[in-house]
Amino acid sequence: METALPSTTLNCTQCGGELHPDEGQLFLTCPYCAAAVYVDKSRVVFHWHLAPTLNPDQARGALFRWMSSNATVKDLDKKASINDSSFSYFPMWHIKSRQGAKEVITLEPAAAITITELRTLSLPAGDLRKYDSALDSQSVPPTVPLQTALGWANQQNPGGSILETALVHIPVYTYKYVYNGQTYTAIVEAGTGKVFANIFPAKAEAPYLLVGLLTAGVYLCLAAIPVFGAISGDETFMMTGVAICSGVGLVAFPFLFALAAWVAAKV
Ligand SMILES: [Zn+2]
Repeated sequence: METALPSTTLNCTQCGGELHPDEGQLFLTCPYCAAAVYVDKSRVVFHWHLAPTLNPDQARGALFRWMSSNATVKDLDKKASINDSSFSYFPMWHIKSRQGAKEVITLEPAAAITITELRTLSLPAGDLRKYDSALDSQSVPPTVPLQTALGWANQQNPGGSILETALVHIPVYTYKYVYNGQTYTAIVEAGTGKVFANIFPAKAEAPYLLVGLLTAGVYLCLAAIPVFGAISGDETFMMTGVAICSGVGLVAFPFLFALAAWVAAKV
């Protein structure tokens, strides 16, 4: 019987040398030039990693700074309880494309992740290092094919021509924390200390809206008094109205301002 399929030869991205990965082997080092490469289907791409600059304590510090920032609900750092944390190298497809005159880098997750925000990470140029097999035990294997990621990248930058693709493993601390009985996930990227979280306890908008509506209501009421005066044609009534408005407006303003400040401090 004849085998219809031609045998595929894989060549190193850097030196062109022939590669013979073992069955199931994903991450390999070229035996000729020592380049770290990744074999996706029949394509060979460079394989990099970003070195962590944060230790677990520093990563936790970055998480708490984010929790106490204005982006989240007040006192989240005190009210949340962290019940799980883990470290891993998460795979991202690093796609360099040309868009007119400029080069664009797109990052797409190479494995399932709930925090899709991670794609907005900007990798510090020049900090990428050759992937090392010593990281294997902490590395999440890629499950998203490069072709899929190229499709996503094309949606973001339509019409761009692909210049280079690579696999990058990014060091991340993943935290699970509980707030008000609900569990949330946050990621601290350990190369830059940036915090990523798609869903988190945010400041409630309703109290702000209420203060805004109340303020608008009070001033609308006041503004109506001289208008009624004008409509009735009674000049004295209109002038009295203007006087009442300015007076009450001046008195009301500090109260409304204080209310707004109180809401801002509480929420
Ligand atoms: Zn090579």
